[in-house]
Amino acid sequence: MPSLFTRIINRELPAKIFYETDDVIVIADINPKEKIHLLLIPKKESTNFYQTDSETLIMLNKTVKTVAEKLGVEDSFRIVINNGFGQEVDHLHYHFLSPKNSDKLCWLE
Ligand code: AMP
Repeated sequence: MPSLFTRIINRELPAKIFYETDDVIVIADINPKEKIHLLLIPKKESTNFYQTDSETLIMLNKTVKTVAEKLGVEDSFRIVINNGFGQEVDHLHYHFLSPKNSDKLCWLE
């Protein structure tokens, strides 16, 4: 059974997409906890941080920097990763949160 996020990646469910490559999709969290709350989701499905290969983690960390630069919030953001503890969706994702407004926050779809 594909995860909720794989269904979003496959366009079976809607989402507000901020950024996408062959390896990652970045979407708006449906229940934002800050002015900016995005989810960075690797397309290669794995359950959690601990279960994920290093190559994918490096790709996600690079994506954090890309997203911060695209939004112009390099000096003010937080990454949250729930690994089992507090984790609702069993498909690895990084929460990207910033208290700043950004006029660069716009959606591909
Ligand atoms: P976690 O507790 O780390 O697994 O976080 C899962 C996150 O996914 C929560 O912040 C939810 O608000 C978010 N979420 C759940 N369903 C959707 C959805 N359909 N589109 C976007 N975000 C979602």
